[in-house]
Amino acid sequence: MTLDVGVIGVGMIGQEHIRRLDGGPGGSRVVAVADADAQRAATVAGQLSAAKALASGDELIASDAVDAVVVTSWGPTHEPYVLACIAAGKPVFCEKPLATTQDACRRIVDAEVAAGRRGVQVGFNRRYDPAHRALKQAVDGGAIGAPLLVHCAHRNASVPGHYTRDMSIADTAIHEIDQLRWLLGQEIAAVQVHTPRKSSRGGELQDPLLVLFEMADGVLVDVEVSVNVHYGYEIRCEVSGETGTVELADTAPVRVRSAGVVAGLVPADWRERFTLSYDIELREWVDTVVAGRPTQGPSAWDGYAAQVVSDAALQSLHAGGRVSIELPPRPGLYAAPPAS
Ligand code: NAP
Repeated sequence: MTLDVGVIGVGMIGQEHIRRLDGGPGGSRVVAVADADAQRAATVAGQLSAAKALASGDELIASDAVDAVVVTSWGPTHEPYVLACIAAGKPVFCEKPLATTQDACRRIVDAEVAAGRRGVQVGFNRRYDPAHRALKQAVDGGAIGAPLLVHCAHRNASVPGHYTRDMSIADTAIHEIDQLRWLLGQEIAAVQVHTPRKSSRGGELQDPLLVLFEMADGVLVDVEVSVNVHYGYEIRCEVSGETGTVELADTAPVRVRSAGVVAGLVPADWRERFTLSYDIELREWVDTVVAGRPTQGPSAWDGYAAQVVSDAALQSLHAGGRVSIELPPRPGLYAAPPAS
């Protein structure tokens, strides 16, 4: 069976995902697109064999031609689109963030719980990156004993002019927030954001940040968030355990030895570093939906929990100090991986 997908928001990542969903190795094609910019929607639809540009995201969700929806519009538009998909009974893959406030995320969780079936998946793509999966396998398999400390870095070469101080947390560190909950199988109990000496390259931005997370079982995590390193895009993670350590390896495909120097290439940006993760993420989502199973990837609850932690980190960034985090009880719908 071919899954007929509608894509709302055909900007940068929307177009990236369309390349994977239409004519890629998975069993899906894109049959409808919608965008606030109607001309952009028409142009993108015109490049596809079976897609129509529809006037609005709501029309796309309601269309009988659309089996499942991908939301890749701007964050503040996610909530109404995801709620409409739940009401229409259509599976929805929503790029992160699930919504831009924890109240909005909670409304999505409540609507899905009321519907009684998991159909929302959030685009936390780290969980699909082969290196991150190998890292988790090593930790879960006991290769380093009980984890004690984690050291992470999230470094961007540069960021666009509209990038704000808060985006260092809400758009950038939110990937580490989800990654840590998933990697360690623990909720985050507290957060404190430190503001070291500012990089002269960051303009008005407070860059870098050092974010300290306390996991519920006492594991302590430090995350460097730097968004103007210029040399490339780099994601680092090392877990220090009772009997050893495990870390993400360098991603350079080759190492050059020349003129007394050993050098490896650094990815230019997140697209280059995480291409494979997006391939696997969408492939697994399509396979799950085609099989008629409830979605199994990062859930609406994961989107909500990440937003609660992100808000706490922003509170620490603005007012200073350590902020405790307490999540309400996790609804039963999200208690365990759904049966296949
Ligand atoms: P983008 O290039 O600005 O694309 C967003 C598109 O949505 C634009 O074409 C925009 O039109 C359109 N849009 C805005 N409001 C809309 C509405 N109400 N209905 C339909 N379309 C609407 O942004 P992007 O970089 O692709 O990011 C999109 C989402 O993906 C964000 O939530 C972002 O955080 C997420 N993202 C995730 C990753 C990841 O690694 N998982 C990476 C990149 C982005 P206008 O330009 O006319 O406003």
